[in-house]
Amino acid sequence: MILWNNYRLLSEDFLRQHHDLVLYDVFHQVVAFLLHPPPCRCDATPCQCDLLRKKISFSLNLDLFNFLQEIHEDSEFLSGARLLLKVPQESYFQKNYTQAYPSWLTEKNFHEEEKNFKAADQLTWALLRLCKTYQLSYLRETRTSISESLEVIFGNTPVKTKQRKSSQDAHGGEHFYKRQFKRYKSVCHLIAALQFMKKPKHKKYKELVLFSWDQADQIEHFLRLSAWFRQKLLLLQTPNTKKKDVFLPEEILPLPSWVVPHEIDIPMEPFAKKLEEINAPFVEYLNSKDPNTILFSNNEQENEARGAERI
Ligand SMILES: [Zn+2]
Repeated sequence: MILWNNYRLLSEDFLRQHHDLVLYDVFHQVVAFLLHPPPCRCDATPCQCDLLRKKISFSLNLDLFNFLQEIHEDSEFLSGARLLLKVPQESYFQKNYTQAYPSWLTEKNFHEEEKNFKAADQLTWALLRLCKTYQLSYLRETRTSISESLEVIFGNTPVKTKQRKSSQDAHGGEHFYKRQFKRYKSVCHLIAALQFMKKPKHKKYKELVLFSWDQADQIEHFLRLSAWFRQKLLLLQTPNTKKKDVFLPEEILPLPSWVVPHEIDIPMEPFAKKLEEINAPFVEYLNSKDPNTILFSNNEQENEARGAERI
């Protein structure tokens, strides 16, 4: 996976001065990764994914550079932008024009691909909320699992029922969710951050306007959110399985080292019903111990969560 070391030859002062451009450059690479997430699943030999990603971010950078040329006269700034956005000399374009990946196609593909992000986003949230549920239960465990998360999303209907079968369809069933999660696993923190910024209940975050050139602060926020999700996802574990960690660091795309989840704290609500279910044996035990004690009742947090339960 990439190491975001493209800027190592540039001075810190220069990078600070062109911070917005660095943000766009990183974001354009992120767009390319969302369209072609690793590991590769293409049939081409040799694999074309990396080349495609490079072409996508190159075209997006070039669009930005052309825009900057229109609004800036400062030649020093423009030569800095050319260097940072890796824009080659004119002669390069004539030679390579036919090999280019047009940015309008990137935009079109991205909007189409966004429809597939929903399942990966929902399952990512379910994994995190399930972990919170176990933490708040009497077990006090940090655990989660993909199969249990799917059960929360789809209900735990027995395998052979018609209902279960209909939930296996190609466009929204468990299999579809599993497939999409597998496909987007390496970028699911980016997807979760992107979708989070769109949620109307998080109004304080303005919607990220993709493919426009005046949203550097939103991109910065998006990257910080992504880093926050990555940090949380790396803590998830499924005990009693061969591979305990749900995500290994190498399975989830790293972000540049200067992106830190500063001032990000997203409240994670437990699943109220699931919490009740986990606590049930404990409640039963308590009640059988001493019938005169007040019945163990779910705490306030759990009741609040019941109202908010929705993923
Ligand atoms: Zn490939």
